[in-house]
Amino acid sequence: MSIIVQKFGGTSVANADKIRAAAARAVATKQAGHQVVMVVSARGKKTDELVRLAAEMSDQPAAREMDMLLSTGEQESVSLMAMAVHSLGEKAVSLTGGQIGIITDSTFSKARIESISTERIRKHLDAGEIVIACGFQGVDPEMNITTLGRGGSDTTATALAAALKADECQIYTDVEGVFTTDPRVVTEARKVSQLAYDEMLELASLGAGVMHSRSIEFAKKFRVPLRVRPSFADGEGTLIANLGESRVVSGLALARNEARVTLADLPDQPGVTSSIFACMSKRKIPVDMVVQNVAVDGKATVSFTVPEGDLADTLTAANEAVKILGAGTIRSGTNVAKVSVVGSGMQSHSGVAAQMFQTLLEKGINLEMITTSEIKISVLVERDRCDEALLAVHQGFHMETELPQSPAVGIQQAKEQRLDVNSDEKLLSEIVGKLANMEDIVVSEVLLDESQSRVTLHHIPDLPGSSSQLFSAVANKNIMVDMIVQNVSDTGHAEVSFTIPRTDLQKCLALAEDLAASWENATVSHEAEIDKLTVVGIGLRTHTGVGERMFKALADANINIQMINTSEIRMSAVVDSKAGQAGFESLQNAFHLR
Ligand code: ASP
Ligand code: MG
Repeated sequence: MSIIVQKFGGTSVANADKIRAAAARAVATKQAGHQVVMVVSARGKKTDELVRLAAEMSDQPAAREMDMLLSTGEQESVSLMAMAVHSLGEKAVSLTGGQIGIITDSTFSKARIESISTERIRKHLDAGEIVIACGFQGVDPEMNITTLGRGGSDTTATALAAALKADECQIYTDVEGVFTTDPRVVTEARKVSQLAYDEMLELASLGAGVMHSRSIEFAKKFRVPLRVRPSFADGEGTLIANLGESRVVSGLALARNEARVTLADLPDQPGVTSSIFACMSKRKIPVDMVVQNVAVDGKATVSFTVPEGDLADTLTAANEAVKILGAGTIRSGTNVAKVSVVGSGMQSHSGVAAQMFQTLLEKGINLEMITTSEIKISVLVERDRCDEALLAVHQGFHMETELPQSPAVGIQQAKEQRLDVNSDEKLLSEIVGKLANMEDIVVSEVLLDESQSRVTLHHIPDLPGSSSQLFSAVANKNIMVDMIVQNVSDTGHAEVSFTIPRTDLQKCLALAEDLAASWENATVSHEAEIDKLTVVGIGLRTHTGVGERMFKALADANINIQMINTSEIRMSAVVDSKAGQAGFESLQNAFHLR
């Protein structure tokens, strides 16, 4: 029989009416022929309230007692929920983490799950009961109550859904689902019916508050279809699953309060980027968009963005880096915002970048920096005009209209792709292994791409339209552009580099030369064989150490970095094709992936 896991966050069980509504939903799902496991959080702000109460008793409440206390929030909700289900005439049983059999280590307040059993849940389900599980908690081997860290109910829900091979893990919340973009900025923003896991991860800022990125990554690993649904209405919400390629552009994110910092006149040699990132990491600066283009006249330039509030610290760190390197000049600016388009379909469609740049060109909005990943293009624009930019791009890609897509197809696809793990025991140990590493491992994969060439246009006019013209021309020849890098310019001219399949190099060079001829002083350079190294993970942005570790590993292997670009879940560096394999190995070692 199919199993549906339904997770209700704090706001969805805040009062008696909401609890009744949640219970009714579970009952309806049960009566539609499914087995139902509810995972429930503490009501409203209950957990915060308990934290405050503890603070009134002691400045340093004992960790064990803290978990004992906080776990009561969930215990309250599940028992009330069970009563609500009973009064609707269905059978239900509430269970604490310990009763389910979620065994954790003894790291109170951020315990790791060590084993999960599904026996008891299955027994109740088979007896026709709705199982109502406390989110966020477990017990250690001595039966002390533990909690999994704030927001941990998402972990409980996705872990149980994976362990039970549930058909769907529904996350009930106080929004309609995930939107194409922030509806407060773009009123015609639309709820998205489905997204691929990676799209959701790249759109972290849109999903913010809906679900922890870690739980999404976990769901991706075990192919648990997630559905973010409103608890206050009947909508179908947003399905997040392994959908293959969907539309070219699915979502659009805005980071308004960025500041940009550029280090120029740097020596073009191994170790330079590493020193810079070591200085940033020492001060815990959350570096966001990193861009490095190929060096010009032996001088390299690295730019990145940071939250504006961190700019002063960043400049201190940048000064330290310049001192250590004995070279470099620093520039910065705050009138910038980052606009990103995300869509898994862009992997196989040329011209998405061109279209985005064209749209911004039509509004006369200049692109100060460009960086891309497989499924994301980010540009830095003037902050004063970022709302306008967001609206224009939203309209440019017709994001306000839904494509005819059947969500049912998504579910079917997701089901077919479920991991083929035969024995439950093996599945359980895999799940537990992954959960144990959830917080530690930021980087989950290192990739080496040996199939590309690099083309650079130097000295192109730093005006709206240059990039658009370039990438339209490339798209017209059906050349798939992978990595695009454009750094800030203060000379009135810009350098744009991009990578393409080696097989398209001649075709691409011909058109690049033609274009360069039409711009005064512009020139073309290229490298027929480059290697691209990528680290893939979650929350790279908030883990300041990832860039540091990546660039240090490459520096230690004496590998020079020619280009860098980043996204929410990837950080890529272009290196000499002779250095790719060695770089790959040093990165695997650095991130303990061997
Ligand atoms: N009640 C816990 C918290 O507020 C767990 C959760 O809501 O996911 O962090
Ligand atoms: Mg929550």
